[in-house]
Parts: sequence; C-alpha cells; structure tokens
Amino acid sequence: MPEMLADNLKSVTERIAKCCENIGRPADDVRLVAVTKQASVDMIEGVIRAGVKYIGENRVQDALAKHRIIGDKAEWHLIGHLQTNKARDAVRAFSLIHSVDSGKLASCIDKEAAKMGKQQRVLIQVNASGEESKFGIRPEEASELLKEAARYRNIKIEGLMTIAPEVDDTETVRPYFRALKYLMDETRPLMDSLGAGSGYNTLSMGMTNDFEVAIEEGSNLVRIGRAIFSD
Ligand SMILES: *Cc1c(COP(=O)(O)O)cnc(C)c1O
Repeated sequence: MPEMLADNLKSVTERIAKCCENIGRPADDVRLVAVTKQASVDMIEGVIRAGVKYIGENRVQDALAKHRIIGDKAEWHLIGHLQTNKARDAVRAFSLIHSVDSGKLASCIDKEAAKMGKQQRVLIQVNASGEESKFGIRPEEASELLKEAARYRNIKIEGLMTIAPEVDDTETVRPYFRALKYLMDETRPLMDSLGAGSGYNTLSMGMTNDFEVAIEEGSNLVRIGRAIFSD
C-alpha cells in the first residue's frame, strides 16, 4: 500500500480515537467506513489489509465490479441513492444499505431479500438539513416509514443515516447531527413497540469535513473518503 494511504488511514483512525476520548466514549464505539468511490481495487485491498472492515460505495454497478474482484474480505455498504430497479443487485452485494428513503424501496428490498433467503440490514436516510438537492425523508416522515418498513420480515432496520451540507464552518451542521440523534431517541419507543427495537442503534453520520462534530453528536458510524484516499 502506498505510504500516503497508510499515513492517511492512521491519521483518520487517530482523530476518531482522540475525539472519542475527549467526550468519554470508547474508540471502538465508532465504526469507520472507508468510502472507496474514487479508489482503485488495489487501494481498497490495501486498506482492508491495514484493518479497514467496512467499505462504502455510492453506486451499485461500481460496487458490484469491485466486489466481484475483492469479495467479502470486508463488509460492503451502499451509501448512495438506490433506485428500485437496482434493488436486486444491491441486496446481492451489500451487507448494509444506508439509503432507504421510501416505502416502495423498502418493499422492493424486502422482496429481493426474501428470494435470496437473506435478511437485509438497512438504515433509513433522513434529509435533516432540508436541502432540496438531498435524498432522504423529512424527519417528520420517519415514524411512518419506520412503521411500514418494520413490517417487512426480510429487512432489519438498524438505524438512521444523514448527509450534512458541505460548509466551511462545521459548527453550522452540528444541529443536523443533533437532530438525527434526537430522531433516533424519539423513534426508539415506536421501534420497541413494533418488536423492531433490538439493534436499532446505528447513526451513520460524518464525512471527511465534519466527522468529529458528528461523533460529538452521537455518530457511531462515519463514512470517510477523501481524508483516506486523497493526497
Ligand atoms: C462520498 C461520500 C462520502 C465520503 O465523503 P468524503 O468527503 O470523501 O469523506 C460519505 N457519504 C456519502 C453518502 C458519500 O457519497
């Protein structure tokens, strides 16, 4: 693995650990998903050898091509938007789909997972900032979608995901991360009452620019690309 990549990965891991330490959380509370949409197969295999356990891709077809070569040495996560017509491919390749944002998509994933005899782990994507360009449900729609998706037996809802706007001052996105944590706490009784509360505990938030703020606000899964793969 190029030295640059090893150094970057070490630096990211250390920043996560330091941030956890500052707020009194164990460093292994936070899973690191290496986002490899810009990375070659060689680079991905390099970071897996260096200990990365989770690989995030935002396009199904790109991920499938890489997955065919690399296989299941790491857990594959779909972090980008998913169209219903790609649900079958997504269910085939991904351990965790971060981007469920409609009942229709949940239903398609459930059907494909049932055919494959799989229980598909998913997160619900929430547009916490209300930016029009972003996918995801509005926070006030969460209960309705959770209720619907929790009925599907081949889906396991493990939590919520959000993408913050790109800004220079990361303090401005803190409220969106806080809102996602709040939404998870607020919907937990509902999930418990639906018998779907166990394992409903993943908050996927934080990227290169803002992962420390996200961790401070309760993130336990950060999705980091540029800080690892760019020089
Ligand atoms: C690209 C991407 C990331 C990683 O972004 P970086 O700024 O490169 O860390 C995280 N999440 C999603 C959904 C992405 O598309």
